[in-house]
Amino acid sequence: MKTAYFDNSATTRMDPRVQEVLLTTLSTVYGNPSSPHAAGREARKIIEDSREQVAQALGVSDREILFTSGATEANNLILRGVGEKNGKHIITTQIEHPSVLEVCSFLEKEGWSITRLPVNDQGALLPSDVQKSITEETSLVSVMWANNEVGTVQPVEKLGKDRTYLLHSDAAQALGKVPVNVNEVDFLTLSGHKLHGPKGIGALYFRKGVPLHPLLFGGGQEFEKRGGTENVALIAGFATAVSLAVEELSENRTAMEETRQRLMGMVTTISNCFVLGSEAERLPNILNVCFEGVDAEALVLALDAEGVHVSSGSACSSLSTEPSHVLLAMGIPMDKAKTSVRFSVAVDTTREELDHLIEVLPKTVSRLRSYSEKKADG
Ligand code: PMP
Repeated sequence: MKTAYFDNSATTRMDPRVQEVLLTTLSTVYGNPSSPHAAGREARKIIEDSREQVAQALGVSDREILFTSGATEANNLILRGVGEKNGKHIITTQIEHPSVLEVCSFLEKEGWSITRLPVNDQGALLPSDVQKSITEETSLVSVMWANNEVGTVQPVEKLGKDRTYLLHSDAAQALGKVPVNVNEVDFLTLSGHKLHGPKGIGALYFRKGVPLHPLLFGGGQEFEKRGGTENVALIAGFATAVSLAVEELSENRTAMEETRQRLMGMVTTISNCFVLGSEAERLPNILNVCFEGVDAEALVLALDAEGVHVSSGSACSSLSTEPSHVLLAMGIPMDKAKTSVRFSVAVDTTREELDHLIEVLPKTVSRLRSYSEKKADG
């Protein structure tokens, strides 16, 4: 059966160049990076070279890069580790990933006050809303660089440099898709598997001198901010993926835009559907579409049966049948939000995959619509 993968915001296929670095390191480097002997030193060197590689790609110092198990851990580390610079107040948005929102709910129970800012109908935060919410107690503002469901790029760069609070941005979906200027923030979250790197590895950029308490205590690894023996091979693969994503950004972005444009050209010929966030500045790879009268869960399953992989809402919450919190925050009514499907392309999406999707999507949508009309009649 033909298959077509359009769920690259959930995860990407590994770049063969990353795979090669990962597998070679995995099969040849075995020392514990904390050991003083030659085998340990070899492993340590790979970690420090990788740190340098990530730092260079982002234009920061290598002392400012900390490896984590992914974006979820980096977000937890920031929100729980930042401490009370000014007081117990955090500002975030209603459209963050659960790895930010759920930590905020936890902190709320611990006595923190959390402001969750709304977004407009395109999924964008208004910078003035942030300014209005700042109090003397605000220690941290956490705003994602780009949203994972609709792709809207957030105005992180417009929040201003003259700040009394610390600024964090989750750039898991943004790096490699749009330019990310790390100098705008104090903390930045990255994830390997969103940019053709391995799963289970990510990083946190933390500005030099900014205090950060660890989540994991142990052997003092990662500048005493994250104890535990490092996964050398994943780190090496991740560093390769990050540097390729940054180096090849401009050509990859054009390729993703073109694929998305072709897809959008076809989707908009289907009756009664609308594209979310189309007027916003958005990532080049996401197309989120509401197909009126079609249950998104049913469409995802029907497309899967045709070999097409897409998702309704975000993959992280797809086990839940609740409509997406992002769409609800954008003011999309509950019944419409339940018709939304996210198509996400990548630089390695092939012409064959696109052709297959273009062939099966209109038929599948109309089959599901006529089925639900019959059900309503009968
Ligand atoms: N933040 C965002 C914006 C994401 O899209 C994701 C993955 N869905 C995460 C955080 C979590 O990333 P990871 O799988 O690396 O923990």
